Amino acid sequence: MGSHDHLFKVLIVGDGHVGKTSLVHRYVEERFCKSYKSTVGVDFALKVLPWSNTETVRLQLWDIAGQERFTSMTRIYYKEASGCVLMFDVTDPSSFRNCHRWKEDLDSKVRLAGGSPVPCILLANKCDLSPWQVSRESVEAFSESNGFVAWIETSVKENKNISESMRMLVEKMMASR
Ligand code: GDP
Ligand code: MG
Repeated sequence: MGSHDHLFKVLIVGDGHVGKTSLVHRYVEERFCKSYKSTVGVDFALKVLPWSNTETVRLQLWDIAGQERFTSMTRIYYKEASGCVLMFDVTDPSSFRNCHRWKEDLDSKVRLAGGSPVPCILLANKCDLSPWQVSRESVEAFSESNGFVAWIETSVKENKNISESMRMLVEKMMASR
């Protein structure tokens, strides 16, 4: 009695090589691999997150593979998404510049039932590497003016801020239902 499951479709987007597949593997399987084959299509993974005594959150993670160069995905991919993770690589300025296109593409193709944008978190990944080629001020300004839930520096490699950022996104998705 009284137990609830919440299923959310979460999109993982961003340029190629920023760490999307690594993030999914780290978060779901708690491990990190040095290289992944980039296949063409979409990979799915399920993360089950005990949320409270009576609630379980199930995240269906959609990882695009080999289509990042289009910086635009089909509507099918976006359909009924509840949340989004947009990633860039702090040592790759073009992956940061492309974030505005990813966010525009997302907002133009999917909305919540009430019409507001889907909650999206911005991850500044590979923060274990230096020097950063993107300033924190410009990330802050971009996040602020584009309606992100938050921006967070992460290292999938060192497992820094991964579960924390996913938790922030889940909190926002739970509140937006
Ligand atoms: P995708 O193309 O966005 O799916 O990126 P991948 O997950 O395939 O990662 C691309 C490369 O970046 C791989 O060699 C990963 O091992 C590496 N990588 C991913 N995350 C990190 C990180 O936080 N720090 C560092 N140093 N390397 C990372
Ligand atoms: Mg990948």
